Amino acid sequence: MASRVPLVAGNWKMNFNHLEATYFVQKLVWLLRDAHFDYRRCEIALMPSFTSIRSVQVLVEADDLKIRYGAQSVSVTTQGAFTGDVSADMLAALGCTYVIVGHSERRKYHPEDDANIVDQVRAVLAAGMRPILCVGESYEERRQGIELDFAVGQVHDVTRDLSRDQAAKLIIAYEPVWAIGTGMVATPDSAQDAARAIREDLATTFDETVADAVRILYGGSVTSKNAVELIGEPDVDGFLIGGAALDADELATIARLT
Ligand code: PGA
Repeated sequence: MASRVPLVAGNWKMNFNHLEATYFVQKLVWLLRDAHFDYRRCEIALMPSFTSIRSVQVLVEADDLKIRYGAQSVSVTTQGAFTGDVSADMLAALGCTYVIVGHSERRKYHPEDDANIVDQVRAVLAAGMRPILCVGESYEERRQGIELDFAVGQVHDVTRDLSRDQAAKLIIAYEPVWAIGTGMVATPDSAQDAARAIREDLATTFDETVADAVRILYGGSVTSKNAVELIGEPDVDGFLIGGAALDADELATIARLT
């Protein structure tokens, strides 16, 4: 897997208030400490709701914890009369490292089209954070056999508007929509095929150095039962985890196996 440090990111979606988030972080850190977890070998990030980020920050800073955290979306505007929006600078001020951009649930339930997603990526980068760009086909595209073109196309729609330096800071999460929250995980082969196709596209659009630098995660029904096989693939650099990231024991186990 070249020299890329794997990343295990928990996408909590709309779960856990700030008290539950605090309890979770304490338990997770305790479990990892108990297992002598080496944070230099595998990075762990939690992506709470906006309302819990400050609580996670306080814990991380007070105890000098090694876990990272971020947000699940961001506004494309920097400040002003945008009721309900949260800016990238606000998230950076909370110590966020990552922001998920273009998750399929955001693409479906919110007006996050390609142009908005590019703007979010730019906003995140401009604030000094890293976007976790989510791509992946629906069941219908897979049935038609166009899943690789579809996922690569979604990446390309974003990268064609980025500079080489910006692209090198991306994290890409390949998350087939049919696998999210369904218990139907992609086979290691198909996760690898998608990750490799995305990496090859990065090499064509930019160069091998960028393609080698970008971490490509797999997401979609990852558990401690399937993580080992998936991470064994050379182009899979970690996971974006939903359901299993709501269980501290399960998340700690996946991190240890990654
Ligand atoms: P899941 O969600 O692990 O519950 O399938 C993954 C995601 O939506 O990021």
